[in-house]
Amino acid sequence: MSLAAHFSDRSAQGGFLLTTVEEAVQAARAGSLWYLTFGLACCAVEMIHTAMARYDFDRFSMIPRASPRQADLMIVAGTLTNKMAPAIRKVYDQMAEPRYVISMGSCANGGGYYHYAYSVVRGCDRVIPVDVYVPGCPPTPEALLYGVMQLQRKIRGVALLRS
Ligand code: SF4
Repeated sequence: MSLAAHFSDRSAQGGFLLTTVEEAVQAARAGSLWYLTFGLACCAVEMIHTAMARYDFDRFSMIPRASPRQADLMIVAGTLTNKMAPAIRKVYDQMAEPRYVISMGSCANGGGYYHYAYSVVRGCDRVIPVDVYVPGCPPTPEALLYGVMQLQRKIRGVALLRS
């Protein structure tokens, strides 16, 4: 939800708006997530699809960044291998705070099909903290968008799964 929509929701009934600086800042954060893409395998194709015209990440004010210094959201999309684990941690550490992580798909969530493979990390949360897990193999763009909306609620301090 955009910042304007957030505030118009709050002011629709009373005609004036009361808020705190913290709430305004969190609403701004939730409404302008700049994401660092971390495509590792096939899930990345669905993440890219979500960013294209049909599903249009931009309407959430979500802009892809190539530099971790300019990103506050990492979408881990795909299979994380042991070899890649130090790199993902290093990139995460370089991101600006506060920073958030969405784990996209079975592989990122827990190893997926490769759960017993010697070379695969059984979930990216063993390396970096994860805020929202999106299930699926691969998750649909709708599922990823739902995950983003759940993250926005989390940032704004709204209970997750509230309708
Ligand atoms: Fe590929 Fe499925 Fe793993 Fe996603 S969860 S990276 S689609 S095997």
